[in-house]
Amino acid sequence: MQHLKNYINGELIVPVSASYLDNYCPSTGKVYSHIPDSDERDVELAYAAAKSAFESWSLTPKEKRSQYLLRIAALIEKNLDRLALAESTDNGKPLKLAKTIDIPRAAANFHFYGTAILHHASTAHSMEGTAINYTLHQPVGVAGCISPWNLPLYLFSWKIAPALAAGCTVVAKPSEITPMTAFLLSEICIEAGLPAGVLNIVHGLGAKVGNAIVSHKDIPLISFTGGTATGKHIASVAAPMFKKLSLELGGKNPNIIFADCDYEKMLSTTMLSSFANQGQICLCGSRIFVERKIYDKFRTDFVKKTKALVIGDPLNEKTKIGAVVSKPHMEKILSYLELAKKEGGAILCGGKQVHLSGEFADGYFLEPAVVEGLSFDCRTNQEEIFGPVVTITPFDTEEEALMMANSTMYGLASILWTQDLTRAHRMANNIHAGIVWINCWLLRDLRTPFGGVKASGVGREGGFEALDFFTEPKNVCIKL
Ligand code: NDP
Repeated sequence: MQHLKNYINGELIVPVSASYLDNYCPSTGKVYSHIPDSDERDVELAYAAAKSAFESWSLTPKEKRSQYLLRIAALIEKNLDRLALAESTDNGKPLKLAKTIDIPRAAANFHFYGTAILHHASTAHSMEGTAINYTLHQPVGVAGCISPWNLPLYLFSWKIAPALAAGCTVVAKPSEITPMTAFLLSEICIEAGLPAGVLNIVHGLGAKVGNAIVSHKDIPLISFTGGTATGKHIASVAAPMFKKLSLELGGKNPNIIFADCDYEKMLSTTMLSSFANQGQICLCGSRIFVERKIYDKFRTDFVKKTKALVIGDPLNEKTKIGAVVSKPHMEKILSYLELAKKEGGAILCGGKQVHLSGEFADGYFLEPAVVEGLSFDCRTNQEEIFGPVVTITPFDTEEEALMMANSTMYGLASILWTQDLTRAHRMANNIHAGIVWINCWLLRDLRTPFGGVKASGVGREGGFEALDFFTEPKNVCIKL
């Protein structure tokens, strides 16, 4: 069985402890590889490598850094099938999704930042004949990057690419639940000739490796994507050390549907925004609010379509719903369905574990569930479930929809369906969320800043903002 390795100082090496964790395949429920159970000693080795590579990397002309990133992007594209298969096996998601979204986006991240850095400008301000002020953007140093399991390579590369482009060197930790594509990325970086120590990938548990990165006294910047509780803990460690911090956290996103929407387009997109990746995308719309005039029709059509979703082998092209990521996560989702019932919800469809046959008999498959009849402020409607579970709730007025949409502690994304232009702009202005999608979902120009408000995080990733984040602005004022 394969034993993955850490990528430190340009080499694939075994963890100092020489111990390993089991890596489960969610669709079979079986261990299929082992990953390093690294600890603070491995983080220290990774830090030392990143530190010694920093001076040379940060002084490498941006055109040259760009070439490395573009080479990595090209190798990701070249290895698309292999990476997609690894991601599907590791995560349980349909292979088709990995092939069409996750892996192409990981390549796009490297491509985007490989080119963005060439156009990252600094500003100058003239004080009419007295002085000139200009701002230098200097790479912060060794960046700590920590990412979750739901979009493994996509989110891992979303941090690493801007950090490297900006001239930082990196110590990164993928989620221990989905380590495989990060491991393959180390092989790709070696093939791309990335200089030793520029990127270091340490596998292992959040409590050991993640914590060692966050609390490392000489790592001045942490870019974290994951749950809000983990983010809160990380902030409590990093803030007193005055680290630069970007936190991309959980969500409980509203999907608000008005009667005047383009119904068919709304329905097909709402299927995706509800259940893509088994609902395990931080941007999924898990609370669906529907104008009462079309509520009954929507309920009938949505439930019918949900029941028809093919659950099964992630490698089968026809599969729409693969396995959820782990047994504990499946149990968490099922416990929320029990809670929904206790809170008075009616499960209109789904919500049970699916026992497939053959090699998938022990896989973590769940029927996608639609729940109605819950109050907007109950726990099921306020807490992040992060699975194939949505609630549907009717509303009568725009104000009511807005009040319910804004009622959670989260504010990551939102979706709005209406043909009324004025209302669309008014709602977009009033929804408390970092992203408002109008008549679409998951469309993104990578130049736009990305992130949430309230408990969904602080800081912005994406666009030129990410390059700003990984650099320290220094203002210089010269007297004329
Ligand atoms: P977690 O917060 O559990 O883990 C995220 C990462 O942090 C993992 O690599 C984890 O390691 C690590 N970690 C855990 N504990 C610590 C610690 N004490 N110190 C440092 N690192 C630690 O999130 P999940 O992996 O469960 O991901 C799901 C969550 O991510 C959801 O809440 C989802 O909404 C959110 N998310 C947010 C996005 C956004 O852009 N806002 C995008 C995607 C997901 P380990 O795996 O070993 O526990």
